[in-house]
Amino acid sequence: MDLKEFRQRGHEVVDWIADYYEKIESFPVKSQVEPGEIIAKLPMHPPQSGEGFDALMTDLNQQIMPGITHWQSPSFFAYFPANSCAESVLAEMLTAGIGAQCMSWQTSPAATELEERVMEWLREMIGLPEGFVGCTQDYSTTATLCALLTAREVATDFKINKNGFFDQPQFTVYCSSEAHSCIEKTAKVAGFGAENVRKIGLDSTFAMDPKQLEETIVTDKRCGLKPLAVVAALGTTGSTAVDPLEEIAAICKRHKVWLHVDAAYAGTALILPEFRHMLRGIEQVDSFTFNPHKWMLTNFDCSAYFVRDKAALIRTFEILPEYLKTSEGDRVTNFRDWGLALGRRFRALKLWFVIRSYGVEGLQKFLRTQIELAQRYSETIASTKNWELLAPTNFNLICFRFCPAGRDEATLNQLNERILEGANKTGKIFLSHTKLDGKYTLRLCVGRANVEERHVEAAWELLQSESRKISP
Ligand SMILES: *Cc1c(COP(=O)(O)O)cnc(C)c1O
Repeated sequence: MDLKEFRQRGHEVVDWIADYYEKIESFPVKSQVEPGEIIAKLPMHPPQSGEGFDALMTDLNQQIMPGITHWQSPSFFAYFPANSCAESVLAEMLTAGIGAQCMSWQTSPAATELEERVMEWLREMIGLPEGFVGCTQDYSTTATLCALLTAREVATDFKINKNGFFDQPQFTVYCSSEAHSCIEKTAKVAGFGAENVRKIGLDSTFAMDPKQLEETIVTDKRCGLKPLAVVAALGTTGSTAVDPLEEIAAICKRHKVWLHVDAAYAGTALILPEFRHMLRGIEQVDSFTFNPHKWMLTNFDCSAYFVRDKAALIRTFEILPEYLKTSEGDRVTNFRDWGLALGRRFRALKLWFVIRSYGVEGLQKFLRTQIELAQRYSETIASTKNWELLAPTNFNLICFRFCPAGRDEATLNQLNERILEGANKTGKIFLSHTKLDGKYTLRLCVGRANVEERHVEAAWELLQSESRKISP
């Protein structure tokens, strides 16, 4: 494709995206295809000669789009949103157009320095104290792996990096039983073993019970194990429960254990001063992650990772073969040493676009509108006969179920599963579920950038009508 055609096709593609957003409500939110349906339409072998752009767009529309679940639909209430906004999409196009690989300062000084500045902005926006420095990562999973590896190296004076696990104690990691699966995954990858991840019990709000945390740490120590890190969640994935950071921090201080905060989803709410109480205890926190790519309108992927001791992070990952040596020395930041991969995307650009386009006040207004809407529906559901909330609505995620009287728990689980499946099959909404206390829980997250009251109302109506179908 030459530049003349690129100009024309570029405009067509932007039109395609704008058309897509315009008619997004006409698609089934959850793709309705069967397993294998899409791949069966795709040629078995690559084309021998190149094809024109029209053919690609035709096949995108006919073969691919039916297999897309529409995450940008206002009736997408499942999981957590993967929000984007027009400014962020355009910044992503520019990033692709510039095509810079931003591993080192010299491979694009502006990418490094813009990232330094927007991470300072983000730190200030979410109320993390001075002293934390940040970088982008692709995912919170990666950030959490960085945290566990740094904790491991700091605890062993960087010996595992050097000698492996030879002669080391058995390390243990702590999180609540509602913590994200990435804690176990990263603990496995970091070499601790899934069996050494202690899943601490919960209080009545599904947050970690700090008393059980301390008891478990004490027992483990007594058995000769080495408690290494606690991962506290500000907003669990199941129900957005908030672990009591202040009490957990005090325990980590007493036992000299690394404290990592996983605020992947709800960290964005810290842009609102009324949620800053979640940060009590932050002075003891060693590392912190949240995902602008979930709630903060910055398109996938963009995770933020903050650490108190950047030297320890860099020492964990730094490796300097001759071909990467540069002459600037300490005067510059080389983000390649702040994580796993060498290559780095220019993620700061879209953060810069989003933060400047909305401003802090614009983001606050956006968040408050959603939280207020979710709170209202949460009250509606709680006060509707035969329905109940199963967890506090701390932000904009509502956890609830249909609970007609006289049914046992197993039956209620089946009924709610059928409601969910029935509602998703209509294509009008997409909801996902979790289990809280063994109870099948409908999760409705009022988090999509374009969600309005009418969409939440329609979802609630649909769920009630599904419930009447199965339990008249
Ligand atoms: C989504 C989520 C994660 C995982 O985030 P990725 O960026 O997909 O790795 C981790 N923790 C919590 C609490 C989450 O909600």
